[in-house]
Amino acid sequence: MALCRPARTLPIAAAAISVVLFAPAASAGGSHDSAALFTPGTPGVGDPYFPLEGNGGYDVQHYGLDLAYAPATDRLDGTVVITAHATQNLSRFDLDLQNLKASSVTVNGRRASFAQSGQELQVTPRSGLRKGGVFIATVRYGGVPKTIVGSPIVFGSPYGFLHTPDGAFVGAEPNAASTWYPSNDHPSDKAPFTIRITVPEGLGAISNGVLLSERTKGGKTTFVWDQRQPMATYLATVDIGKWQVKQSTTPGGVPNYVAVDPGLLESQPDALDFFTDTTAQATDLWSSLYGKYPFDTAGAIADDARYEGQPLGFSLETQSKPVYSAVRDTTTIAHEMAHQWFGDSVTPAQWKDIWLNESFATWSHYYWNERQGGASVHDQVRSVYNARPFPDAANRPYWSVVVADPQRDTMFNDRVYSGGAMVLQFLREKIGDEAFFELLRTWHADHEYGNVTTEQFTALAKKISRQDLDPFFQTWLYTPGKHPLP
Ligand SMILES: [Zn+2]
Repeated sequence: MALCRPARTLPIAAAAISVVLFAPAASAGGSHDSAALFTPGTPGVGDPYFPLEGNGGYDVQHYGLDLAYAPATDRLDGTVVITAHATQNLSRFDLDLQNLKASSVTVNGRRASFAQSGQELQVTPRSGLRKGGVFIATVRYGGVPKTIVGSPIVFGSPYGFLHTPDGAFVGAEPNAASTWYPSNDHPSDKAPFTIRITVPEGLGAISNGVLLSERTKGGKTTFVWDQRQPMATYLATVDIGKWQVKQSTTPGGVPNYVAVDPGLLESQPDALDFFTDTTAQATDLWSSLYGKYPFDTAGAIADDARYEGQPLGFSLETQSKPVYSAVRDTTTIAHEMAHQWFGDSVTPAQWKDIWLNESFATWSHYYWNERQGGASVHDQVRSVYNARPFPDAANRPYWSVVVADPQRDTMFNDRVYSGGAMVLQFLREKIGDEAFFELLRTWHADHEYGNVTTEQFTALAKKISRQDLDPFFQTWLYTPGKHPLP
């Protein structure tokens, strides 16, 4: 994610609504399943920053989203089919769903009872689900998705599902996937997605992965997108509206699908070519540096996205095609494309390790700046170092934020971006270019499509460099304060 505007103070959102619904009581079908052997899955996956994000007891294998969006009413209606693998004997399990109403739930084709409380959708199947087995949960739901505004996470922009004049713009990091589809909303449970979305004829719906089909019937058009490689829930997107699309292939051979809101082309007529060319250049550069591009397509979705008339500040590395809420500079595009390796393909198992996304993407965009003729990465990180006072300026924490555990409300603090990029650059200077680039390539290759921790990264750095890096990492990743330049 990248923010290009200073943080603004926004009003606190209304308290989350709480809805409780009960479907008809389950019959006593599976009497052979002793209730004592089956227990409810936990309502969270155990992430200290977000205790209710994700859920325990199962591992999603595939998401099938079938959505319909009506811009005239902002209403989203859908059916989500979740194929999951039970990791315990389950009497009940939760999904995350915020501010939208479930109308029916089935498990393995049989009607299940369900209740909604806060962001939890509790599902009780007719009989217990055995550990090791695969089950299919189908949820029908709908409503007007609610944009997250005034979150305690210092981020500076509304996020999630944003209603635009011609449709919608979706950027859900870290916890807004559940504002538009029921899910196991935590990055530790990645799965492939098929996203089918129906919109009024004349509009387009762009999503992750490759476009499988587009059909118009009865005044509506249905698009089917397939994201074959596993994806974290926050990286899913659907962007609806009028689009100009350009499909091409990068010089390095990666398909490149770029969609730009025609409204942006009025003031920047070359925006479609600009996004296409810059995305191609970044995709090929990072492929040469970090290893083969991990997804079936690269691309960009550039929308004229606003909240209550105010332009949004952010871009997000939604998988295979980042979303941009306006025309952005080449540095931002390079940043979001670097995330395809670091963040999207290799994803932190817990949010405290967000530096594994942002510091790597920021180091990459510094490298990009140097390649474009700007200051060297060496000089860029020293400018940041010198510009930041310590103790921190009032209400501007930086050095007091711990890179490898920045705390929830400051997880997008610049320390995690420029401060972590500084750590990577100091590491590069300490171990040399050969070991540093081998480390980044091996890091991606070893963990492609998986989840990772900071400790795995530091262990690999020590192994590849054959240096005792413990004091270095202890100082720069885990200890707050402005340490002397190494
Ligand atoms: Zn980022």
